[in-house]
Amino acid sequence: MAGSTYDAIVVGLGAMGSAVAAHLARRRQRVLGLDRYVVPHELGSSHGRSRVIRKAYFEDPRYVPLLHRAFDLWRDLQAESGESLLTITGVVNIGPPDHACIRGVLDSVTEHGLVHDVRAADEITARFPALRPEPGDVGVFEAEAGVLCPERCIAAHLRTARRFGAEILMPQRVTSIRSDGAGVHVATECGTYSAGHAIVAAGPWLPAMLSEGEAAAIRTPGRAWPLLVERQVQFWFEPQNALLVQPPGMPVFIHFVEERAYYGVPMLNSDGVKICRHHGGATTDVESVDRAVSTADEEDVRSYVRRYVPVADGRLLEAKVCLYTNTPDAHFVIGSLPGQEQVLVVSACSGHGFKFSAVVGEMVADLVMDGRTRFEVGMFSPGRFD
Ligand SMILES: Cc1cc2nc3c(=O)[nH]c(=O)nc-3n(C[C@H](O)[C@H](O)[C@H](O)COP(=O)(O)OP(=O)(O)OC[C@H]3O[C@@H](n4cnc5c(N)ncnc54)[C@H](O)[C@@H]3O)c2cc1C
Repeated sequence: MAGSTYDAIVVGLGAMGSAVAAHLARRRQRVLGLDRYVVPHELGSSHGRSRVIRKAYFEDPRYVPLLHRAFDLWRDLQAESGESLLTITGVVNIGPPDHACIRGVLDSVTEHGLVHDVRAADEITARFPALRPEPGDVGVFEAEAGVLCPERCIAAHLRTARRFGAEILMPQRVTSIRSDGAGVHVATECGTYSAGHAIVAAGPWLPAMLSEGEAAAIRTPGRAWPLLVERQVQFWFEPQNALLVQPPGMPVFIHFVEERAYYGVPMLNSDGVKICRHHGGATTDVESVDRAVSTADEEDVRSYVRRYVPVADGRLLEAKVCLYTNTPDAHFVIGSLPGQEQVLVVSACSGHGFKFSAVVGEMVADLVMDGRTRFEVGMFSPGRFD
């Protein structure tokens, strides 16, 4: 209700916001959740029916403790929701042994004692016949990894939030967020709401909300936020032999080929095989992004498929544009805005955030309620761009 006071208002109810709302509501906070659309939807960063979750983390070993907790939380949410959210398929990271990302995977498994095995290229093909790496490649295989279904995860978090009393209003677009020491005031097209804290989880809309332009909703005078939105395309191909592209015959793969990275998700239902390029997309913004998929988009990925996963080189079944929000160091942005303690930003996941959203929900609930958390958050500080 406009005019009511809440403990926390969550702005944006995609991957991050839905998890934050669920964790705060579960801890008996009075929560209002607002989204400009009805989630889950296909305009942001969280659609496409699969998101990879793995612990052998090439990005940085500091993420591994968060991943241990994330797996537990996803399993709890799955049990609570009675729906299939997490599918264990195994994940293999493939590339030259001296590639920085393969070295990064090995750093994480060594530092954290993760169960894995390392295979030569011919052993990868012998075990997973759909995959044809370069002869010099190695594969680091993690059996206890897999995929989450993002739309179902978001819906499950929102159901939990509602069950614990959160008010969820969609569609309702937030136009301004102001804090005055006593509280935070969040204005939408329908009214103004007040709370102790606002948590802004606006995904690819965040750069515009923090800008000085027309879409600006939060004032951060004198600050330039180095956040860039990147266009990505997800493709689903019809396999020539369905038996070869289903787990356990095919795991999720991430393949580092020279300067590029491609990943694939095995066929889990009638969807076909999902194969995409990771990064390499045009810089854009959420309003003007080209949501049509071109033949050039397809050719980029299909030329990879033809050479390295030829059994998936069938009819294009579906293609969807999605958005990354990147920071310069590829770490997320989680924490209070400098000088605005009551406004927390939870966003800019740089193309690898979905798997963490459950643990980010817990982490942000800690920060809002206790001002600290047992998880590593320093690397995500909004102040690090100063
Ligand atoms: C193609 C692709 C593949 C990916 N693969 C993986 C993967 O395999 N594993 C992984 O872990 N991660 C992956 N990611 C990254 C992950 O999906 C994202 O990091 C995550 O979904 C981002 O969630 P979010 O909550 O920040 O944004 P979103 O889920 O987009 O949510 C933002 C929400 O804010 C709302 N909003 C915006 N402005 C306003 C406003 N003014 N008022 C109210 N509401 C507003 C929007 O409507 C939206 O619902 C991938 C991303 C893409 C695009």
